[in-house]
Amino acid sequence: MAKKETVGNPVKDLQKKLRREPVSVWSKREKEAIFAFNEEYKRFLFAGTTERTSVNEMIRLAEKDGYIPFEAFLKNPPKKLEGQKIYYNNRGKSVAFWVLGKDIADGINFVAAHIDSPRLDLKPVPLYEDTELCLAKTHYYGGIKKYQWFNVPLGIDGVVIKANGEKVAVRIGFEPGDPIFVISDLLPHLDRREGDIQKVFQAETLNVLLGSIPFTFDKTEGVKDLVLLNILNLLNEKYGFVEEDLFSAELEIVPAIEPKDVGFDRSLLAAYGHDDRVCAYTASKALFDARPVSKTACAILLDKEEIGSVGSTGAIHTFWKKLIKHLLPLYRSELSIDTIIERSMVISADVAAGINPSFKDVHEANNAAKLGYGITITKYTGRGGKGGASDAHAEIVGHIRNLFNDKGIVWQNGLLGKVDLGGGGTVAQFFANEGLSVIDAGVAVLGMHSPYEIVSKADVYETYLAYKVFFENSK
Ligand code: MN
Ligand code: MN
Repeated sequence: MAKKETVGNPVKDLQKKLRREPVSVWSKREKEAIFAFNEEYKRFLFAGTTERTSVNEMIRLAEKDGYIPFEAFLKNPPKKLEGQKIYYNNRGKSVAFWVLGKDIADGINFVAAHIDSPRLDLKPVPLYEDTELCLAKTHYYGGIKKYQWFNVPLGIDGVVIKANGEKVAVRIGFEPGDPIFVISDLLPHLDRREGDIQKVFQAETLNVLLGSIPFTFDKTEGVKDLVLLNILNLLNEKYGFVEEDLFSAELEIVPAIEPKDVGFDRSLLAAYGHDDRVCAYTASKALFDARPVSKTACAILLDKEEIGSVGSTGAIHTFWKKLIKHLLPLYRSELSIDTIIERSMVISADVAAGINPSFKDVHEANNAAKLGYGITITKYTGRGGKGGASDAHAEIVGHIRNLFNDKGIVWQNGLLGKVDLGGGGTVAQFFANEGLSVIDAGVAVLGMHSPYEIVSKADVYETYLAYKVFFENSK
């Protein structure tokens, strides 16, 4: 008697065929590879805590990989352009890394991320003394929840231009033994402030403690603000600064908290500035590692995204066009820059809002990103009725989805939150306005814009793989 054939459950089979179930990266990738990649990422995070130090650190890594400055390349352009590695440093605050393809006529694959993060900037005249404490006034940059910046260790990362024109880099709070700085909050015993949390915690109370020892000398009688004077004297001894030098400076107050593994299983990574250094790092590493690149490929790291992508270092200034203009004659191309742009594609690489289990109600579950479920594709951003959105057209969504599926990339869908609840944007619209096909895709984050944001290590690794596949793809 023949054995009865075992058949699957037809309903389950149909479900499998027709429905889409999100896939966990942990079920698909080697844990060791995920963890190893994140160790490198951690090092980058703590070395580059601002747009300037991120540019420096990424250029350092690129040069190790054979990238040369744009100016040096133009001086002596090689006969064979394919495979050439170039970088363009835009005022030390944004940077583009390029790998040249066989023919510029194919267009360019861009991945664009940003390297500025929400923070506190020192005001142009920052120092003051009160109650024999020296403090610095700040001006917040980007969208922050002000209360989160009290009572956390802070560092200073920035530059000062001195009277003689010399530029001095200042970075304190990140080396072992460094002091840190703190904004001290009111004790609960005496805190009777009530109402809207954004009004209770006011911008003008975001004042950073700098010191408390008065300057001592025989003849200090009648001299005011001796603690402030002492701090200035210390700065003068160490850097040669006088107070007016702080006027021509960009000194950024950022959390001085080392990136750390989160959880018993170490699956998550907490750090300041995942938004958007996580996409900046994965995009650049993907370009460095992509083999081969047949189309010209470019990872571009931008400044000023958190305040609207404005200015000469933000996405609104299309400095990347400069290289294309120079490349066209080198490729002996008759095509116009507009045609190259039309044939080009951009992944706007920025973070997405992951579902926080304690605050689920701000999301609509079917259209929200979950930590550990791969790179998050965001079809559109904006607020209200898609106001100010970059809305990727179906064709590019189809292209990216099929590419990721073909190459086995774990991806998920994620919008910012419930319709009409809030909103936001990325650099996407600035590239779209230039005529490029653009889609948003990046890493889901918990606690975005806080001093200590959280990502899944699995998503960091998967996003790197996704950008790499994009750069390697010739279509
Ligand atoms: Mn961002
Ligand atoms: Mn942001």
